[in-house]
Amino acid sequence: MQTVGHLINGKIVATDQRHQDLVNPSTNEVTARVALASKATVEDAISAAAAAYPAWRDVPPIKRARIMFRLKDLLEQNADKICELLTREHGKVLNDAMGELQRGIENVEYTCGVPELLKGEHSRNVGPAIDSWSEFQPLGVCAGITPFNFPAMVPLWMWPMAIACGNTFVLKPSERDPSCALFIAQLGMEAGIPPGVLNVVNGDKEAVDTLLTDKRVQAVSFVGSTPIAEYVYTTGTASGKRVQSFGGAKNHALVLPDADLDNAASALMGAAYGSCGERCMAISVVVAVGDATADALVEKLKAQIAELKVGDGMDNNNDMGPMVTRALKEKVEGYIATGIEEGAELAVDGRGLTVAGFENGNYLGACLFDRVKQGMVIHSEEIFGPVLCVMRVETVQEGMDIIDAHEYGNGTCIFTRDGEAARYFSDNIKIGMVGINVPLPVPVAYQSFGGWKHSRFGDLHAYGPDSVRFYTVRKTMTQRWPASGVREGVQFSFPSHH
Ligand code: NAD
Repeated sequence: MQTVGHLINGKIVATDQRHQDLVNPSTNEVTARVALASKATVEDAISAAAAAYPAWRDVPPIKRARIMFRLKDLLEQNADKICELLTREHGKVLNDAMGELQRGIENVEYTCGVPELLKGEHSRNVGPAIDSWSEFQPLGVCAGITPFNFPAMVPLWMWPMAIACGNTFVLKPSERDPSCALFIAQLGMEAGIPPGVLNVVNGDKEAVDTLLTDKRVQAVSFVGSTPIAEYVYTTGTASGKRVQSFGGAKNHALVLPDADLDNAASALMGAAYGSCGERCMAISVVVAVGDATADALVEKLKAQIAELKVGDGMDNNNDMGPMVTRALKEKVEGYIATGIEEGAELAVDGRGLTVAGFENGNYLGACLFDRVKQGMVIHSEEIFGPVLCVMRVETVQEGMDIIDAHEYGNGTCIFTRDGEAARYFSDNIKIGMVGINVPLPVPVAYQSFGGWKHSRFGDLHAYGPDSVRFYTVRKTMTQRWPASGVREGVQFSFPSHH
């Protein structure tokens, strides 16, 4: 059986004793196994990154950018292969995988401008014959730990910018679907990244804990569920590292009575059920203002759910593939049972779905709950499956209060034709990313991504301008070249322009 190994110092290594099966979610057949790195293997990767750092930090940024240009080309040339690897392990439909990869490529495109992004700030004559400037220096060895749901895109949020800024990197992808991240890293080597500058270790908690506590690692970027995000943040910062840690979500769409309900329903279908709802920006709750809005929306959603095509992700005629694992499917089914017990109305039940030819796959049809209330578990917790909850409120303010009171603050959106209401909403809602008639307001690569509240731990957001600041540290120089022959004597007061 094929073993997915690690990339350490430019070579594929797979000598670990522990392994985990890789399973095709569409059939539950074991397709390969992934090596789970021991502490010693991760330390080898950190050693390789530490050894490569001094030379890499001095490579001119324009040369590092040229590697990113080549990487972009290679990603485009190999897009079909990357998406096939991704779909076979994750399950999402190929077209959706292509959309994910394109977002990753856009991050690489942004990184191509790194000489401009790294430019410092200069002030002439801050005092007599004194100039001062700030520059942004790399940190050293950085690490990234990524989730299963965007196995191509999220690693590309991290390592291209980190290494373009002059750092070296150790990536720990999700052990559930590691193959495309490893393949993309190999494309990075082909593009010209020197051995040791980019390393990939596959593994679980043992690998993560080693990255979080090894003193040579200067900074950690994490994306995953909130309990692990919080753990990574507290453990990494206690070990003296810079940490940015992105967690789970519960994203609400507020639908006003004046919204274009046909377009809102179509937008909500993709946002709720695309990728089986396994997206941190998925809309999982619709808050409808007024019973008439809710009634109309539920009818439109039911009609569109009846048309939804669920099946193997390798077939682009399908809208929704299988869930990533049987365990996650069963967990989501458990939430559906809880919702019924809590008194929510299951308007569409997607359980019990079988797909011809793929009877053993992790299939779960789209589910729609109506009359969900605050305090129900299906509202308070992240379900991370194809389950959309409809809540009914009387006023916009009541809807906004529900959204603000939620533990998570990743994304939200409003559907309305009323500019004043939209502006009030975007100005005041306590959520990091806001859409106005845009259901998935995932920022483009040259903005930055990040939620509020328990969806993010740490200060800076992911990718875009914030990532340049995250992967560098400011140094400020003050320089004086006094005219020769001038004698100034000793001064004991603090230097100022008094
Ligand atoms: P996860 O937290 O289970 O795993 C994420 C990473 O943490 C993986 O690499 C995994 O190996 C590692 N990990 C898991 N358990 C660990 C432990 N006990 N100790 C140390 N490391 C551990 O998340 P997942 O199931 O892979 O991904 C889904 C979650 O990620 C959802 O909650 C989703 O909302 C979130 N997510 C958030 C964003 C965002 O930007 N906010 C983006 C994508 C996904």
